[in-house]
Amino acid sequence: LKIIDLIKARSTPFYSLEFFPPKERENWPAFFRTVERLKALNPLFASVTYGAGGSTQDNTLEITAHIKNVIGIEPMAHLTCVGADGAKIRDFLQRLRAEGVNNILALRGDAPRTGDFSWDDQEFKYASDLVSFVRTCCPDFGIGAAGYPAAHPESQTFRDDLAFTKVKVDAGSEFIVTQLFFDVREYFSFVEQLRAMGVNTPVLPGILPIQSLASVRRILTLCGANIPGKLYLALEEANDKGGDAAVKEAGLAFAVDQIRRLIDGGAPGIHLYTLNKAGMCLEIADRVGLK
Ligand code: FAD
Repeated sequence: LKIIDLIKARSTPFYSLEFFPPKERENWPAFFRTVERLKALNPLFASVTYGAGGSTQDNTLEITAHIKNVIGIEPMAHLTCVGADGAKIRDFLQRLRAEGVNNILALRGDAPRTGDFSWDDQEFKYASDLVSFVRTCCPDFGIGAAGYPAAHPESQTFRDDLAFTKVKVDAGSEFIVTQLFFDVREYFSFVEQLRAMGVNTPVLPGILPIQSLASVRRILTLCGANIPGKLYLALEEANDKGGDAAVKEAGLAFAVDQIRRLIDGGAPGIHLYTLNKAGMCLEIADRVGLK
């Protein structure tokens, strides 16, 4: 099943879930129980991240296969192309296919921080190169791509980044999943500008439920997204008054409000960055009332 067909067949807003492969195998059973618990959200699909440079490539494969064949949720494997060649990508797609997984999120990935590296030496320089490759080599695969409401940190201008997002769609990406953001206006403006360029694919907003001050700080450093000063101050105040529990409650209330506004404004569904935790996502869905 291609995810785009699932999206098209769905007449009401939905959740999709993002997980990362736990590093230690001994933690996999608990992780799969988390995924099982989140079936209560009736997710349209569950995506599994892929370590840049291929560090957790096999884990992504094994976990997506388990989510599909044991847990029974349609999976999407993230796939980065930095450092890869066509043969390696084709091999990975064939192994996914053999497990019944035929949806990928086509990503470039980040340059490795160590060793000699030059983008000029890469067979795949941009995610759009990977999209074109997969479209040609494996037309049975569903393809999504990443989008950045606040622009990708490496891009020179918003306009450039939007134009390159359109290149991914023109190459064959059927939908877009956004980077996390905290200001819903960024999402609506991103979608509006894409529509004005003739890009009509669904754009799934990525929502990160804030679980603690430390985790939000770490994630923002990693992904280059920004947090409105007012929200950050509110989280700090909550932390001063009531510690972790108060931050979590503030994060919960914020995510619920964000999701309601996104759905009211016409977002097709909500992509939840679960951080492999079920409790907060279940609580959010309960409060939003969408399942
Ligand atoms: P691209 O679309 O290739 O864009 C990268 C940069 O190049 C942008 O600045 C863009 O404007 C520019 N650009 C694009 N095309 C051109 C062109 N033709 N000429 C000049 N400039 C161009 N990383 C992982 O390692 N594993 C994951 O599982 C993972 N999952 C993610 C999931 C989501 C939803 C998101 C939003 C990001 C994810 N990432 C993941 C991070 C991603 O790999 C990084 O953000 C990476 O830096 C860019 O990837 P991309 O696919 O958006 O790249």
